[in-house]
Amino acid sequence: MARAALPGRLRWRVATVAESRWETSSARTLVLDVPDWPGHLPGQHVDVRLTAPDGYSAQRSYSIASSWTDGGKVELTVQRVEDGEVSSYLDDTLEVGQPIELRGPVGGWFVWRNDPAPVLLLGGGSGVVPLMSMIRARGDVRGKQPFRLIYSVRTPQDVLYADELKRRVRDDPGLDVHFAYTRAVPDGWPEKPGRINVPTLNTHGWPPDFAPDVFICGPTPFVETAADILVALGHDPKKIRTERFGGTP
Ligand SMILES: Cc1cc2nc3c(=O)[nH]c(=O)nc-3n(C[C@H](O)[C@H](O)[C@H](O)COP(=O)(O)OP(=O)(O)OC[C@H]3O[C@@H](n4cnc5c(N)ncnc54)[C@H](O)[C@@H]3O)c2cc1C
Repeated sequence: MARAALPGRLRWRVATVAESRWETSSARTLVLDVPDWPGHLPGQHVDVRLTAPDGYSAQRSYSIASSWTDGGKVELTVQRVEDGEVSSYLDDTLEVGQPIELRGPVGGWFVWRNDPAPVLLLGGGSGVVPLMSMIRARGDVRGKQPFRLIYSVRTPQDVLYADELKRRVRDDPGLDVHFAYTRAVPDGWPEKPGRINVPTLNTHGWPPDFAPDVFICGPTPFVETAADILVALGHDPKKIRTERFGGTP
């Protein structure tokens, strides 16, 4: 952790896909062996570079899903985007054992450093990835800070890390998760599908006087809406950190 916190020159490394697993039918986690990985903080990301035989190359950012304690292993979870150049390759073509170029860890602001404050996490779609790194890291250090995740996701089938989240919530009284489904809800769910709004965050978020550190990540419209609502509800803007993935939700 300490090494990763130090700014240093980023260089491209050739990692190897050690294993992979499907989180949903359209999102795959890649477990990468990265030589000389300096470690990372929860919330940081890497740049991934693909280069074709003719020299054409494409570069995208992917958040690190794994906790900082995972040694030289770095996990990325890639949600396939319709017609997406890089996400389709990472999900459907890249095989275990193959090399992949990456650079990182990147970012020093959207990071959780095991601070004592309670933490409110708001994730939209694959924006849950860096938040999962924070949840895993807190679990690894047996953190006592209350953590709450509000996870906006299209349908129950699209939930990333569904089993792990369920297990962590069951085993850890300091962690809870509220799902805000935007397109379809599970049977018996008490709310209609819809995007997060003032009642969602008023009911399921924490009150401003609880003074949580807030991390919001996802598509740009999700992040902007969530941040605006929290500020309108009285949260201190200085305690709200955001990461935008681009694209539309
Ligand atoms: C800091 C950072 C961290 C990120 N972490 C993750 C991560 O952990 N997991 C992950 O799956 N993605 C993550 N992303 C998004 C990722 O970098 C790519 O933008 C995404 O995979 C699409 O790339 P592509 O080449 O497949 O699509 P492109 O070929 O670039 O785009 C294809 C189409 O999809 C649209 N589009 C592009 N990006 C998105 C998007 N994010 N959502 C919806 N539509 C989009 C484009 O407008 C275009 O119409 C992150 C982005 C940033 C900036």
